[in-house]
Amino acid sequence: MSLEIRRSSASVWGSSSGMRTLPAVSKYIDTTTCIGCKACEVACQEWNDLPVVETKQVGTYQTLPTLQAGYWNLIRFNERDVDGGIAWLMRKDQCMHCEEPGCLAACPAPGAIVQYANGIVDVNADRCIGCGYCETGCPFDVPRFHKTTGKMAKCTLCVDRVEVGLEPACIKACPTGCLHFGTKEDMVALGMGRVAQLKANGFAQAALYDPKGVGGTGVVTVLAHGDHPEWYDLPADPHVPILVRLWKSVLRPLGAAAIFGAVIGAFAHFTKYGRKEAEGTDDDDTNLPTV
Ligand code: SF4
Ligand code: SF4
Repeated sequence: MSLEIRRSSASVWGSSSGMRTLPAVSKYIDTTTCIGCKACEVACQEWNDLPVVETKQVGTYQTLPTLQAGYWNLIRFNERDVDGGIAWLMRKDQCMHCEEPGCLAACPAPGAIVQYANGIVDVNADRCIGCGYCETGCPFDVPRFHKTTGKMAKCTLCVDRVEVGLEPACIKACPTGCLHFGTKEDMVALGMGRVAQLKANGFAQAALYDPKGVGGTGVVTVLAHGDHPEWYDLPADPHVPILVRLWKSVLRPLGAAAIFGAVIGAFAHFTKYGRKEAEGTDDDDTNLPTV
């Protein structure tokens, strides 16, 4: 992998050299032009060599009730009465590639979750210990435990395609053009333009979902009903859980400082007083047990 790592789980400092800077990347999703064809779901399975998954109908048009360890991209459906009419609300569910990833903050295994220089958040299966803590840190309920591998799994934002200049497979497959990929700056500009268009067409509450509670996301989503993200199964104000933030920013650095202090203390004691001899071990071997 040639992408540098900006942040890594269970490490106080990042490992990026700072020699190269890359702009943050993002997906753009326009929920108002998604037709629910699920081409993006199929493309994700195909590109990532994920298995065929049996659909499970629970009274909606969704393929599955929720994401799975072998199903990383799911079009969610919600039907609502809005202003006396029926609205079909579709939303592409996957890892949001948070700027401040709760999964990474919660993970105790060094290097098991990384954030690359371009903002993509990925699970390193070689280092993952399958403890599931990342699940508790994620405000979007994304990572899933894979029973066969014993590791966590989720959308990689097709990092293997992105790093060689290709767009993610889901973006490539979408026939309506409601998905785009590019720099975060360009995708936000595209989204704001679409929001202005929707507002001019009677959707006064249209908004771009890019929640600040997680520092923004690498997936920006146009919502016609931006005042009700929960209608799309999106949290209104997602945050990294307080206990996870405490662990990451206070307890872990304190623990590291305590270990460092103990090592320095032991070294100082050794240089001042030297090695401690065990009592009664000089030339006196009278206490040795007889055989
Ligand atoms: S959506 Fe969840 S799994 Fe994805 S980067 Fe954010 S915290 Fe991690
Ligand atoms: S491919 Fe595009 S239109 Fe089809 S379900 Fe996915 S996002 Fe919607």
